[in-house]
Amino acid sequence: MTESLLEGYQRFRTGYYREKQSYLGTLTKGQFPKVALISCCDSRVDPGILFDATPGDVFVIRNVANLVPPWEPDGHHHGTSAALEFAVSELKVEHIVILGHANCGGIRALMEQDPDTESDSFIARWMDIAAGAKEEVLANSEAQGFEAQCHACEQAAVRISLQNLMSFPWISAAVKKGHLSLHGWYYDLHDGLILQLENGVELGISSP
Ligand SMILES: [Zn+2]
Repeated sequence: MTESLLEGYQRFRTGYYREKQSYLGTLTKGQFPKVALISCCDSRVDPGILFDATPGDVFVIRNVANLVPPWEPDGHHHGTSAALEFAVSELKVEHIVILGHANCGGIRALMEQDPDTESDSFIARWMDIAAGAKEEVLANSEAQGFEAQCHACEQAAVRISLQNLMSFPWISAAVKKGHLSLHGWYYDLHDGLILQLENGVELGISSP
């Protein structure tokens, strides 16, 4: 399986790297991305390809189901919160994008999970962050059928993560000062379109 990685690396060395060698060399001076983007670990959702980004453009934080936990200064290990702290406090990014996506395995697991079952699964514990999204979808009769409920939950989870972003004091302070904007987007694997959840308009089309 790693042969395909090695072949890809060869193509990178002889193609992309050679083409952009002088620019890539300048990156040793530091990184100055304006955007932090939270994406799922899902192998089908690749922010670098979706946004045709160049190294240095986007500070990408990936986790299961692109979730942001609430601010929890409890002394435990918080990978996503640590990455957000670096992006906002050190890199001073101007935008945070949460990129949800269709057919998310993490959200499906949450929707299938029996809330009464005790589990020591890291995934189940992590997906607790989006428990409110599941409750909201199950209480809402609009989403008919399991697949539709999963799609609704994927989008509701992005909204919860946006709210959780505002629970971090250095994020809410930067937003209030107008230095930072928060965005919730949703990528549909089927048609390749990205929906802006804040206004229901597809990305790239001006809102009416
Ligand atoms: Zn996912």
